[in-house]
Amino acid sequence: MTAVLELEALEVYYGASQALFGVNLEVREGQAVALMGRNGMGKTTTIATTCRMLPLRGGAVRFGGRDISALPAFRAARLGLGLVPEGRRCFPNLSVTENLIAAARPGPWDLARVRAFFPRLQERADQLAATLSGGEQQMLAIGRALMTNPRLLLLDEATEGLAPVIRQEIWSAIASLKSEGLSLLMVDKTLSEILPLADHCVILERGQTAWQGKAKDLTEEITDMYLGV
Ligand code: ATP
Repeated sequence: MTAVLELEALEVYYGASQALFGVNLEVREGQAVALMGRNGMGKTTTIATTCRMLPLRGGAVRFGGRDISALPAFRAARLGLGLVPEGRRCFPNLSVTENLIAAARPGPWDLARVRAFFPRLQERADQLAATLSGGEQQMLAIGRALMTNPRLLLLDEATEGLAPVIRQEIWSAIASLKSEGLSLLMVDKTLSEILPLADHCVILERGQTAWQGKAKDLTEEITDMYLGV
């Protein structure tokens, strides 16, 4: 299996303060990778760096075998990085359909397919994004990323703050994207929900890759050490 994404020894700063101290991570074609760690350990920074929204001081981001470390975010996105950002961030004053169309790029995912995938987005087609429920906004955020026809979908806390039944709905949508062969990089804190989907896990501790391996090799000792409260 070839790697779709390779992060090599990422070093990233916010001003003078260093946030990543050598993060290593790989997502192979068709794989679902869970990026985990306690609050403030660098998960969102790693996602933002992958999408080229933060400058690198060291290391490299390779996507589809190409070094994209120096590319601006909009060009990296065009290569097939589909981001579902933390907090969803849809255009609040655009309708559901306008949000989807604004993201469209050619490929198998078009308006009809996204609406079939999330029928709620069809039902709410003309409603302003700001007036959607949290779960519907999350579906819209995923739908927008799919409209870009990504090669890799990056999901940053896709189920945060949602009711259990909606969380299940979102996870089952993500599972069906995985079964179609889409490569996934997922951040989530609820291990019981993310682990069944993950082929591989990466745990960050203070901006470094502290552990990585197969989801099935993640022992209670490791979760207690790096993820326990
Ligand atoms: P959480 O689970 O709370 O979202 P995280 O693992 O995603 O946490 P990051 O948000 O990547 O962690 O933060 C990593 C480090 O970088 C933290 O020490 C955080 O305080 C710092 N940091 C994050 N964003 C900024 C920013 N905009 N300016 C300055 N420091 C930041």
